[in-house]
Amino acid sequence: MADKQGFLTKEGGSIKTWRKRWCVLKNGSIYYSKNPSSGELGIIHLKEVSSVQQSSRKKKNCFEVATPDRTYFMKAPSPEDMKSWIDILNQQLQKMKAQQSVKSTVGVEDFDLLKVIGKGSFGKVMQVVKKDTGKIYAMKVLNKKNILERKEIDHTRAERNILKKLVHPFLVNLNYSFQTEDKLYFIMDYVNGGELFYHLQKDEKFDYDRVKFYCAEIVCGLEYLHACGVLYRDLKPENILLTEDGHICMTDFGISKEGLISDNDRTATFCGTPEYLAPEILKGEAYGKAVDWWSFGTLVYEMLTGIPPFYSQDVRVMYNKIMNDKLLFTTPLPTEAKDFISALLERDPEKRLKDPKLIKSHPFFKSIDFEKCVRKEITPPFIPPVSGKTDTSQIDTGFLIETAKLSLDTSNLSTSMQKNFEDFTYINESEHLKEGLI
Ligand code: AMP
Repeated sequence: MADKQGFLTKEGGSIKTWRKRWCVLKNGSIYYSKNPSSGELGIIHLKEVSSVQQSSRKKKNCFEVATPDRTYFMKAPSPEDMKSWIDILNQQLQKMKAQQSVKSTVGVEDFDLLKVIGKGSFGKVMQVVKKDTGKIYAMKVLNKKNILERKEIDHTRAERNILKKLVHPFLVNLNYSFQTEDKLYFIMDYVNGGELFYHLQKDEKFDYDRVKFYCAEIVCGLEYLHACGVLYRDLKPENILLTEDGHICMTDFGISKEGLISDNDRTATFCGTPEYLAPEILKGEAYGKAVDWWSFGTLVYEMLTGIPPFYSQDVRVMYNKIMNDKLLFTTPLPTEAKDFISALLERDPEKRLKDPKLIKSHPFFKSIDFEKCVRKEITPPFIPPVSGKTDTSQIDTGFLIETAKLSLDTSNLSTSMQKNFEDFTYINESEHLKEGLI
């Protein structure tokens, strides 16, 4: 439910033009779009706003919303409407500030551990319940010493920043992050429809419409990540979860890279999962956002045929195949699917299909309305058989036999080592709004 909504004329763009935008204030953020039924053009998170006031510029009914990155100028249709926007925004800002004092109090002792539900490269993920609200969450636990030993501090910081800043229907939502002497904790929404990996193993492959649906949602998620300057680098079926209503949810930003603003920005670290690595990464070249579209091509192929295109149990053989083998389709597929996969699995990143606009308008997606897709208005073709938030029937039983507990690492970290984890603690204001705490 929106707290306030309506048209405002907003200054924006590189040449600073004024455009009418449909603005919706909800869950502690202002979402703006061309009109009530079109896709979102941008979000202003109130947690990043320092002040809201009538503008000092001599524009009629104009107010300004200041963030560290930029000041947003908005013109309301009437003085009353301007005042009402300023009032409600300031009320919410004040509530958030009042919340600062509560912030430091959310910690691991506020949660009961229920089950181990997954393992990542740097720690485990448990299903937990918040004691005061009874709400179920996923808690990812990372060991500080491991992070420092493996020189993963930048990745961990990037993961936390990405989870904190990015809000999108197909990305997992972070509610809290905090730390103890030896561990870091992410408290995320619990997504209980199971990994795409689990469903793919069970069904071997998915039917054509189901693949198109997952692909369309993944394209929206990837497009948003890239637009925010984030390279995902680990797109694979293990990192795509299904929500209980059958939509996708991308998790694990543990090796994602922030700050790739322009399409030409490059990075060079060798990381990712063997099956999904783009040839330019294997060749040790500097690479950019095109690597995510290669991994996406691999995933589309895998969902349609049951195995990744250049698979071998021997990783060296697989790398060789990724770099040199002809792409073969072992299963009969419609021409547009073969064409789509071939364009994504183009070895030359310059020639690869990587422009989200071209991807969305490819004949493979001719039946998909992307505006509806991003609003989750396309009916999911498969609903995971779960009976409620605590149902773990879609989770690999291999994880579930493990007891959910937190071991204590007693080797003390020096103050200078602890300094690496400053700023880690975070509370998502909208979660508190939902809980009625502010
Ligand atoms: P990660 O280290 O983030 O890759 O997480 C390891 C595994 O834990 C994932 O592959 C999922 O199976 C599970 N997992 C991670 N985040 C969540 C979540 N928010 N809800 C449910 N399961 C999750």
